[in-house]
Amino acid sequence: MAEADSVVVIGLGRFGQSLALELMAAGTEVLGIDMDEELVQALNTQLTQVVRADSTKEEALRQLAVDEFDRVVVAIGNDISASILTCSVLLGMKIPVIWAKAVDDRHGVILEQLGVHHVIYPEKDMGRKVAHLVRGAALDYIEVEPGYAMVKASPPARLCGVPLGQTGLRKEFGVTVAAFKKPGADWHNADADTVLGPEDRILIVGPTRMAEGFAQLR
Ligand code: ADP
Repeated sequence: MAEADSVVVIGLGRFGQSLALELMAAGTEVLGIDMDEELVQALNTQLTQVVRADSTKEEALRQLAVDEFDRVVVAIGNDISASILTCSVLLGMKIPVIWAKAVDDRHGVILEQLGVHHVIYPEKDMGRKVAHLVRGAALDYIEVEPGYAMVKASPPARLCGVPLGQTGLRKEFGVTVAAFKKPGADWHNADADTVLGPEDRILIVGPTRMAEGFAQLR
């Protein structure tokens, strides 16, 4: 099954399941692996292949031809030793790209020390994101890198009814409106001639504080 666009997801708990189903919906083949028979049964028809196995055992992974895949996600969180052992086996198999979920910083440091290519912190990252949503007017928020963000918001009144090029936005506020969406329409890239209405949604891009501050203007 190791086709070009295919991924192994190990651990089909809440996070792994959601990831695997989203990959399938996006057209990527998924081999799902979990120790829990009930989970394997439940997902049987929803992933390309689902198998019950203990991922800490190298022979089990080799039998499933996991070593032929380019990308593996280790979505085991709560059982930290199982997560670490699984990553160690995968690194020994020279899987080119390994993603692993960490439940906390300590777990993450160990995975990074092992050499896992991408360590993700879903709970920590979601907590940080929600903090920004709770704080203010942002409808969605992505910090591209520390200090630089994309914020979805309603346009402040002073941006409405005038072409964006005439609002002095970049000079005065240090942010750019990258895209906009009229009610019921699709998202479009914004340019100097774009005229916003109060019901529109906009995507503001810029340094985090400025982008967030701008989203809060009314
Ligand atoms: P979540 O918080 O996303 O639900 P969990 O860490 O609770 O994540 O779940 C991880 C999943 O990984 C569970 O379904 C569990 O059965 C599975 N799992 C744990 N250890 C192993 C292992 N050694 N081999 C395969 N699957 C495992």
